[in-house]
Amino acid sequence: MGFANTAEILKEPACNLNHQPDRACERPRGGESCAFDGAFIVLNPITDAAHLIHGPIACCGNSYEGRGSLSSGSRLYRYGFTTDMTEMDIVYGSEGKLKEGIEYIVKRYEPSAIFVYSTCIPGITGEDVEAVCKEAKKRTIVPVIPVIAPGFLGHKNLGNRLAGEVLLGRSCWIM
Ligand code: SF4
Repeated sequence: MGFANTAEILKEPACNLNHQPDRACERPRGGESCAFDGAFIVLNPITDAAHLIHGPIACCGNSYEGRGSLSSGSRLYRYGFTTDMTEMDIVYGSEGKLKEGIEYIVKRYEPSAIFVYSTCIPGITGEDVEAVCKEAKKRTIVPVIPVIAPGFLGHKNLGNRLAGEVLLGRSCWIM
């Protein structure tokens, strides 16, 4: 798996109308959601995968049922899977909870893959979401794909781009 440097992506011009080639286009103001939400929007249409949001319940509520998709059968993408991090998880860590969540989904729903979204809180506390996914993939034999796009990285468009990197098989390296 290759790496994409998020700092470089942040500086890339978003379109060829940008007259300052060393700066990304200014983001729209107001009503725009975060990088996590942008990544979720891009990947959620993979309807036979489970989408597990590692963070407080509000991150899941941020976009739950707000995004549509077309599916030829699977309804798995409509489930709002989250680790529902609490204050205690912030103090004591929640990598174990994430691991249990992945195992529960594999056993109960047999998804073709699981996308695991890292949000602001595990990003701030420094949880190694990629390592948990790697380990879970070995144990469950299901692709467990980390999406490292916590909201504090930036705006929704950046999240769209980071999800694209994930689809290309590149893990995103933060700063
Ligand atoms: S900004 Fe952070 S805490 Fe808020 S919804 Fe996005 S990922 Fe969650």
